[in-house]
Amino acid sequence: MKTIGILGGMSAASTQIYYRNLCAIARERMGGLHSPELLIRSLDFAPIEGLQAAGEWDRAGDILNMEAKSLERCGADLLILATNTMHKLADRMMLGISIPMLHIADATAGRIRQKGLRRPGLMATAFTMEQTFYTDRLINMGLDPIIPEVSDRALTHRIIYEELCREIVTEPSREDFIAIAQRLVERGADSLILGCTEIGMLLNQGNVPVPLFDTALVHCEAAFEAALNK
Ligand code: GLU
Repeated sequence: MKTIGILGGMSAASTQIYYRNLCAIARERMGGLHSPELLIRSLDFAPIEGLQAAGEWDRAGDILNMEAKSLERCGADLLILATNTMHKLADRMMLGISIPMLHIADATAGRIRQKGLRRPGLMATAFTMEQTFYTDRLINMGLDPIIPEVSDRALTHRIIYEELCREIVTEPSREDFIAIAQRLVERGADSLILGCTEIGMLLNQGNVPVPLFDTALVHCEAAFEAALNK
């Protein structure tokens, strides 16, 4: 089994989801006492969020690049970046690195295409919904994503940073997310991308009426698959 390098801490809640899921997948797939070979680098999210808010993306990208290099030096065979938003910096992160990175949007888009779906609603941070680095990637994979209206985007972004990234789960926010997902379905979404790795704390296949793709889970499954492919 190859060693998966997880660049995480963005947020710490997200990295815990990755660790739990990768361990569960290894147990299901391999049985016995098997667990995944992992290197986890969990950053302090506060300074990273400060750079995002200040628009200092190049500096954030340089930090990701330094940390990815250290995961490679420590023996990672492949890398996953355990956040959708920071994939804005995927190219900068991978400068000078020779091991592969498994892109979260590619893994998710591939899964949606496999199911014969084309028009996913996308719930994510404002960066991921409103900038083109993520939606263009989905479009290039043959999808036609739709994003929430402006007030729903602001609410989604606020709940992610003020609650989910701090491991705060509330029923009113769950109701808000269910309503936002419903409005996307009414506008024609045939599926829903949880395009932020913490959104699964509030939404799941039980409270969304269309097929749901949780990027954190899809990413873990794709990474585990890649780790098994010698
Ligand atoms: N984990 C989140 C995501 O998937 C948001 C936190 C971040 O900005 O990295 O986009």
